[in-house]
Amino acid sequence: MTKCLIIGSGIIGLTTAYELSKAGHRVTIIDNDKNGKASKSAAGLLFPLNPWNNSKNMQKLCMAGHQEYNNFFNILNNKEKNEIGFEKKNLIIFGENIDLAKNWYQKNFNIKFNYTKKKLNTIEKNIKESHKNFLEIENINVINPQKLLNYLKHILIKKNVEFKKYNIEKLNIFLGMPENDKYDFIIICAGAWSNYILEKKDMYLKPIKGQLLYFKTEEKLIHNVLLYKDYYIIPRNNNNIVVGATIEDVGFDEKITEKAKTYLANSIAEIFEKKIKMINFQQKFGFRPYIDTEEPCIIADDTDKRLIYNFGHYRYGVLTAISSAKKVLDLIS
Ligand SMILES: Cc1cc2nc3c(=O)[nH]c(=O)nc-3n(C[C@H](O)[C@H](O)[C@H](O)COP(=O)(O)OP(=O)(O)OC[C@H]3O[C@@H](n4cnc5c(N)ncnc54)[C@H](O)[C@@H]3O)c2cc1C
Repeated sequence: MTKCLIIGSGIIGLTTAYELSKAGHRVTIIDNDKNGKASKSAAGLLFPLNPWNNSKNMQKLCMAGHQEYNNFFNILNNKEKNEIGFEKKNLIIFGENIDLAKNWYQKNFNIKFNYTKKKLNTIEKNIKESHKNFLEIENINVINPQKLLNYLKHILIKKNVEFKKYNIEKLNIFLGMPENDKYDFIIICAGAWSNYILEKKDMYLKPIKGQLLYFKTEEKLIHNVLLYKDYYIIPRNNNNIVVGATIEDVGFDEKITEKAKTYLANSIAEIFEKKIKMINFQQKFGFRPYIDTEEPCIIADDTDKRLIYNFGHYRYGVLTAISSAKKVLDLIS
């Protein structure tokens, strides 16, 4: 049994802990609860949207992620599925990307979909009449990320995974402390802050801020997840709606902005027939970990084999969390 220390308890750290403890490793997780943790504010779509823009590696990881979650949900009972806000929803893609989307999903994914030429407002009555053809993908997985984090933490505690609140300033200093010699592996899952700890000169990782709108509508606005251009609209229980998300290169600036609100609100106005009244309006943000190759980084350090990195999923971090965790397991086995 190896002793592993995981730095970061976002979705990447928690799923890594889940896979390692399942394989019999002893795991400790430390976190300092940074404001803007990406996993807390993610939308919770477990399906790649516009994946043709990503590298082949990233596409493969997304497809593996989709399969891994299906396996994971199969072992949960209904109460547990409810606890994590799990739902199967249909995804409706419309607009200019529809042919591209059709070709990509047809070629790469073993999933059921319909390419429909009837008017979109025949299935979503609030959509403008001008939006016609659409692609309908059945049964994509959607979860509530905050609830999934809580659930994973709860089962990890039951599996004797130890959680500690601790802030790592610089990894080199931390590794030099005699009490940390006991760990066989140290796995960095600190998301957008990973490079800040590592100070690696040869890797370019930075935070990319994402903002989302949450609100309620008086009547049920939509029944399916909608993808139009590069934003999505997700219906949740009780007429709640999530619209996202922006991609902003602004460092660790924690302000929620009027500009993001206007951009997302205009996006909604572009597709709905009537003006939407937003009740209980909230705007949230998170810092995504971004590497300029747009690839995740799941590797052992060149020189210190005790160090493993698992970060860098700026758009699909939740979707690819289990498939990434399995790669870490391979690295330490
Ligand atoms: C608005 C938005 C919407 C998104 N929607 C989706 C989606 O629908 N589907 C999807 O798949 N992906 C989505 N993503 C991307 C996804 O959220 C991220 O890729 C993913 O959450 C990254 O997880 P993580 O665990 O690496 O990072 P985080 O969740 O940020 O976790 C990093 C952890 O490290 C800790 N930490 C940092 N520095 C230190 C330190 N020095 N010492 C100790 N602990 C430290 C932090 O406190 C934090 O808990 C979205 C992202 C955003 C921002």
